Amino acid sequence: MPEPIATVIPLPQPALLPVDGTAALFPVRRVYCVGRNYADHAIEMGHDPNREPPFFFQKNPDNLLSQGNDFPYPPLSADVHYEVECVLALKSGGANIPAEKALDCVYGYAVGIDFTRRDLQGEAKKAGRPWEVGKAFEYSAPVSVIAPVERIGHASSGAIWLDLNGKRVQDGNLDQMIWKIPEIIAELSKLFVLAPGDVIMTGTPAGVGAVRKGDSIACGVEGVGTLSLSVV
Ligand code: MN
Repeated sequence: MPEPIATVIPLPQPALLPVDGTAALFPVRRVYCVGRNYADHAIEMGHDPNREPPFFFQKNPDNLLSQGNDFPYPPLSADVHYEVECVLALKSGGANIPAEKALDCVYGYAVGIDFTRRDLQGEAKKAGRPWEVGKAFEYSAPVSVIAPVERIGHASSGAIWLDLNGKRVQDGNLDQMIWKIPEIIAELSKLFVLAPGDVIMTGTPAGVGAVRKGDSIACGVEGVGTLSLSVV
């Protein structure tokens, strides 16, 4: 038995996500997100949908909220938006990964929501400040059970949707991504050294909007899975 690590304060617990078909969990190292990766969402946010280089931001591993938990409405915002996204879970990484080898890094796929304090993000954008207050808050990243590639294959097309209180408000397809999944991994690995446990949220289609306490959300990615929760 190895000696337990001596720490001066209690060791923080790692973020862990459930995996379909096994009791073993997926440990999360970093959470990357892609901005404006569907043209119709870029347009609704007032941006040029042409293919500019992708840009990235991060959430924190402990912002993840596992399936089965409700989303607590966060403080200091009156405009929290849902964004349904296809989520990648990496089993390997590296720097400067070629796009044609990028899918080899993917352990599995999941459905996630990139909850955003849009009012705080808007103020940050206007002031040229970082986005963390708008994006990386507690419970801001609900994620479904991970579906391993060995069970579902790779996700490149298929419906991505979100229902708010039973009404379809986001209705896109993975094939509408401006930067495809292998390209996202390749571009991200130019900026950061990717590693096992990294999670990537790949952007949202059009139709984002505000939630209120009491709302119920159901969302999914065809061939990957579904996620449902209430706003409490
Ligand atoms: Mn997003």
